[in-house]
Amino acid sequence: MSERITRYNPARVYELVGTVPAADPARVDAVVLAADTAQRDWARVEVADRVAALRDAADAVEPHLPTLAELLARESGKVLADCRGELGFALTFLRWVAEHAPRVLADTALDDAAGRLLLRRRPYGVVAAITPWNAPIILSFLKIAPALAAGNTVVVKPSPLAPLAIDRTVRLLASALPTAVLQVLHGDAAAGAALVGHALVGKVAFTGGAATARVVAAAAAAQTTPTVLELGGNDPVLLLDDADLSPEPMRRLVMASFATSGQVCMAAKRLYVPETRHDEFVAAYRAAAAEVLCLGDPLAAGVSMGPVVTAEAAARITGLVEDAVARGGRALPVGRVDPGADLRAGHFVTPTLVTGVPEDAPLVAQEQFGPTVPVLSYRDEAGLIARANAGELGLGASVWSADEERAFAVARRLEAGFVFVNTHNRTGMSLRAPFGGVKRSGYGREYGEEGIAEYAQTCVVHAPAAFRAGGAGAAANAYPAS
Ligand code: NAD
Repeated sequence: MSERITRYNPARVYELVGTVPAADPARVDAVVLAADTAQRDWARVEVADRVAALRDAADAVEPHLPTLAELLARESGKVLADCRGELGFALTFLRWVAEHAPRVLADTALDDAAGRLLLRRRPYGVVAAITPWNAPIILSFLKIAPALAAGNTVVVKPSPLAPLAIDRTVRLLASALPTAVLQVLHGDAAAGAALVGHALVGKVAFTGGAATARVVAAAAAAQTTPTVLELGGNDPVLLLDDADLSPEPMRRLVMASFATSGQVCMAAKRLYVPETRHDEFVAAYRAAAAEVLCLGDPLAAGVSMGPVVTAEAAARITGLVEDAVARGGRALPVGRVDPGADLRAGHFVTPTLVTGVPEDAPLVAQEQFGPTVPVLSYRDEAGLIARANAGELGLGASVWSADEERAFAVARRLEAGFVFVNTHNRTGMSLRAPFGGVKRSGYGREYGEEGIAEYAQTCVVHAPAAFRAGGAGAAANAYPAS
């Protein structure tokens, strides 16, 4: 009998949420072989028919959203509203891809004085989609939808920390698609490594942490399998001296750090405020947090922040805050606790704002990936930009100002793949805007047309004018003139 992965509720650690079978290497091999066989037929389906099938697949999931959202909340600790939002957004994304993929993936044919040129967008083959636990649905859909539209088949390997809702969602999607076009298998490093290293995998799409990414990229490189890597960030928030600190933007900024208990790649992770407005900012932020941030059970009404994913994560985050305090920082609890919550039952961490912490403290210098955020004050813009750009990560950033031109000018100087203006995190996303990191936050893009093109290779058929019927000819070894 195969081994099973069990998942307990992070908010009530005694509650078993469900189990999935772990894939051994033989199972990984069988799944990839089936995907490879299915891929030839799937690639021959016209793109218009492939995206029609994707729309049917979205329709197959839609009626199940409420039960899937609850399952996701119970296995991950994310609040129910977040889970509903993620699932709904994933279907919106899939339908967006169905609408735009035929244009992005269309052949381009040129026939002119220079010759006849055909540019084709061909699939890679089998795409291995390896995803983390913090947003397992949308992060899988970002790979599944464009990869399938482009004629690849897909094998998803979710994180063992949140495998249940994505398992069901993938099976529902797959029920509307030909056999083995979309499959899911489970496991951690061993199953992931077997998948990445499989000779029949044509592309690896990975979202997760930097250490795993290096192992994945090295294994893929061993047989020149291309990769797209979406990794962590340490996003700075630059509040310029004219930033609006009124309750509405402050509530948005609070949730930009604390949604999903701060366990989001593009969360607001370092807050830079002008020295002259530091105390005003801290007061405005705490007031906004008291309104919008409520810690408790993810299924309880009105709760906006649940536990973190594991006991290890809770200990790591608490340790970062303790270290910051030991270095002279001051940890200010923010938000409130739901009166019905039993915080001893799960991996709950009190959300904190940390002031007065030195820039080299791990809380500032590293991705905290949890419900705590440092406030750092600055005197001048030049110094601010250097500090915002410090470090090896470059995923997101944000600039907050009453003057949009000024905000865009500062944004252009930031080393980040995505700079939000007057917002941060999910409220600043757009289906049409490519997302991904620079520096060590990864490479390749998701969302937008680039996120579709990521799963197709441009291949060429070319008849140079000189050698077409009636052409002028050219020397046997000549370079082209254009
Ligand atoms: P992780 O790196 O621990 O795991 C990611 C996935 O890799 C999991 O499915 C895991 O089972 C798998 N894996 C582990 N070892 C493997 C191996 N040797 N070969 C193949 N697969 C292997 O990441 P995590 O803790 O689940 O996620 C947190 C990280 O993800 C954070 O750094 C976060 O910022 C980042 N993240 C980035 C984005 C983005 O879009 N840039 C989005 C979400 C999360």
